Amino acid sequence: MELIDGKAIAESLLQELEAEVKNHVTQGMPIPTIAFIRVGEDPASITYVRKKESIAARLGFKSRLKTFPEDVTEAALFACIDDLNKDTSVHGILIQAPLPNHLSEQKTFNRVSPKKDVDGFSSSNLGKLCQEDPHSFVACTPAGIVELLKQSNVTTAGKHIVILGRSLIVGKPAALIFMGKGSLGNATVTVCHSQTKDLASITQQADILIAAVGKPHLVTESMVKKGAIVIDVGMNRIEDSSTKRGYRLTGDVDFDRVAPRCSKITPAPGGVGPMTVAMLMKNTWKAYQLQTSS
Ligand code: NAP
Repeated sequence: MELIDGKAIAESLLQELEAEVKNHVTQGMPIPTIAFIRVGEDPASITYVRKKESIAARLGFKSRLKTFPEDVTEAALFACIDDLNKDTSVHGILIQAPLPNHLSEQKTFNRVSPKKDVDGFSSSNLGKLCQEDPHSFVACTPAGIVELLKQSNVTTAGKHIVILGRSLIVGKPAALIFMGKGSLGNATVTVCHSQTKDLASITQQADILIAAVGKPHLVTESMVKKGAIVIDVGMNRIEDSSTKRGYRLTGDVDFDRVAPRCSKITPAPGGVGPMTVAMLMKNTWKAYQLQTSS
């Protein structure tokens, strides 16, 4: 069994990007800038945005943080997005999800200019992904999964990929990529969800199994074909009184039992998570290049 080390792969990707950005900026070019919008004080959202800000700073990007109270109106939030869309010194905009219930996430993501939508969640970028337009911004988690497989010398043509979860941010865009005709496409893709009957009979057929459900240890060893490649997207908090925080993070896959059956597997944490942030930075760099070259 080979461990797909997302932390190491993300680190080498960031190092490459850092060198490229440094080289560019020292030539007197404007500095790539990403704006983060955070609504409310959800501790996990605060941590995620801080992490993204610190990686952006390490790469030499500027970042701006706009925060709003939990009860912000749609009009006030959209006015901020409109300003950032117009501001030519801002190249990427990220709205940290989840948003409070009174705000529509889809409507908010769609408000971001498609050329600054570095999260790839707008209908414009999802539509372009469907059309296999290379200028689209691909959602960072599926893009990170693709990169992990590429760096691990995995090919997908003709393989059966089973994806657990059909969310707009992971399952659906991942299915579009793997069923497409790109270099990591041409797979036969099955997407499962909460209404899928006899999940195990489907997952047992997977050459590559991607779990993006949000249920700790849903995937057990009897659900996995011997020699399969398993990508665990899940990031679940489970109580653990032995830790300082009182919880620990775990994936959707029962790693200890499933790993011995796999040819390759990602740990969680330490697999897809670091890649998601790295791909956000790659998307920001791409947005910057597209905007400054036109
Ligand atoms: P989500 O929007 O809640 O979607 C979960 C999906 O799983 C839904 O499609 C749901 O089906 C399906 N599902 C629920 N129970 C199921 C079951 N028993 N069998 C099969 N499918 C089932 O979640 P998400 O945003 O995609 O995130 C999924 C997980 O990935 C979470 O743990 C999240 O924290 C993690 N995540 C990690 C990263 C990262 O960077 N590492 C990034 C994004 C997400 P229905 O559609 O029928 O409800």
